[in-house]
Amino acid sequence: MAANEAQPHGKIDSEWDVIVIGSGLGGLSAAARLARTGLRVLVLEQHVFAGGYAHHFLRKVRGTKIVYDFDVALHQTGDLLPGRGMHQMLSELEVLPRLELHQFDVIYRTRGPRHDLQIPAAADAYEELLIELYPEQAGGVRDLFEHMRQIDEPGEDGGPSPAAFASMELSLKELLDQHVRDERIQGIFSTLWGYLGLVPSELSAFLFARMWSSYHLGGCFYFKGGGQALSDAFVGVIEAHRGKVVLRAEVARIETTSGQVTGVETRRGQRFRAPVVISNAPAPLTYHQLLDSPELAAAELERVDGLPLACSIHQAYVGIRGDAAKLGLADRGAFFSPTYDFEEERAAMARGDYRRQGWMVGNHDLADPGHAPPGRSILHSTVIADGSLWKADDEAAYRERKRELESYLVDRIAEHIPDVRERIEVIETGTPHTMQRYSSNPEGSIYGYASSPTSHSIHRPEARSSVPGLYLAGAWTFPGPGFTGTMASGHRTAGLVIEDFEGRSGGPR
Ligand SMILES: Cc1cc2nc3c(=O)[nH]c(=O)nc-3n(C[C@H](O)[C@H](O)[C@H](O)COP(=O)(O)OP(=O)(O)OC[C@H]3O[C@@H](n4cnc5c(N)ncnc54)[C@H](O)[C@@H]3O)c2cc1C
Repeated sequence: MAANEAQPHGKIDSEWDVIVIGSGLGGLSAAARLARTGLRVLVLEQHVFAGGYAHHFLRKVRGTKIVYDFDVALHQTGDLLPGRGMHQMLSELEVLPRLELHQFDVIYRTRGPRHDLQIPAAADAYEELLIELYPEQAGGVRDLFEHMRQIDEPGEDGGPSPAAFASMELSLKELLDQHVRDERIQGIFSTLWGYLGLVPSELSAFLFARMWSSYHLGGCFYFKGGGQALSDAFVGVIEAHRGKVVLRAEVARIETTSGQVTGVETRRGQRFRAPVVISNAPAPLTYHQLLDSPELAAAELERVDGLPLACSIHQAYVGIRGDAAKLGLADRGAFFSPTYDFEEERAAMARGDYRRQGWMVGNHDLADPGHAPPGRSILHSTVIADGSLWKADDEAAYRERKRELESYLVDRIAEHIPDVRERIEVIETGTPHTMQRYSSNPEGSIYGYASSPTSHSIHRPEARSSVPGLYLAGAWTFPGPGFTGTMASGHRTAGLVIEDFEGRSGGPR
């Protein structure tokens, strides 16, 4: 069990090999790998749960003992088929044996102006479906799928393939235009742009392809118990290897001596020493507020400030009486887009006009059967958001805006379950402000920096910073966001730390 900083601090050693700030998946995966190599690792998390966005929250139905357990973030994740990167990584870290996986044949339902389809998770079946529906486009569809497979393949040196390198400068729209110009196929194929928050003309083809492959080549999954089960599995591994995860422990300062990281100080004034600090907190926060001498990171600051932030999200978490699948919502995740003109959606998002954006609704019971209280269902309704529009509200105006948003999100569910309002037992709505409040991510960004062709993966601040002893892990650094991206990031950062420990008998550079 993760420890609570409110308990006497005397029980927590003050000297460690590595301190990790933040227990998002980037922080936890780095900590788990390092702990398994024998390093003594302390994770300090400001929140009451470990996991960052990969955590849950509980809501009791007033006057009863009925409790709904909502997953904050995870709709689905990928790359967990045997032989795929995430499967290998989580197996090596001893995390996978602690988890029960649910695998799905259908990745999502997508409905646009002239299509309504259940999309197979397996790439071959997906390709055949598109060819069957649009035989006149068969050549382009085959080329497109082949292109995605080539991007996924490793290059000769084990790094990215030539196709992957070539995709790094393209937008998704540019890549699609190379193969198919039919707006329906482009619309269907790019449905998952919503997961990365940029419309196809602005979204990195490389990042999209990585995500696409993780699901369509790597399998589509949910963890029984959700994101929290994954986070708890990481905590279990860390603590089985002499590490510690301390909750309610906000780090206020990263301390340096003679330009080298020496430890951290928490908001409550507790000091912990280590030659290595990995920050899973947002990069802008790390360099501007936490590092005691920001000028040490002059090399990073330009990049940190110059990159655009990713989108945030509006999401309603809804608990209802009844079996939602029988009542009319039989999709685990369904994307609805009012248009094939994504530029319209981009403009609507920039105005905060969520009524003109696409949306997603889902029946969580189908992701995690038996997780809702008996005879009840957990649903979600989601629209991505420009977090900058939710900054400056006064309290009353914010409450009113949130109430209107919630009503709109419930209307989206009511299209499937007309009497949903009479069935609701609990409802919580998260706005970008909520996301920021619980994670400290600026503007409630859910993916760190935006994944455009000039701000994805390789353009992000380096995991090994120019400040000796300071490293980053998570969505703000390489390779990027999402469950798989941040876990890969933490694992990679841990590798750099190990290299640096091994490279110098005295410790990290
Ligand atoms: C509603 C929603 C739905 C999503 N759906 C999916 C999905 O279906 N699939 C998918 O792959 N991804 C999804 N994502 C994205 C995914 O959850 C994130 O990209 C990922 O979890 C981010 O991990 P991270 O390591 O960057 O850290 P974060 O989750 O941002 O965590 C950072 C942690 O650092 C802590 N912290 C910050 N500052 C300090 C400090 N000073 N001291 C101590 N602790 C600090 C925070 O409290 C937090 O716990 C979703 C996100 C949201 C919000």
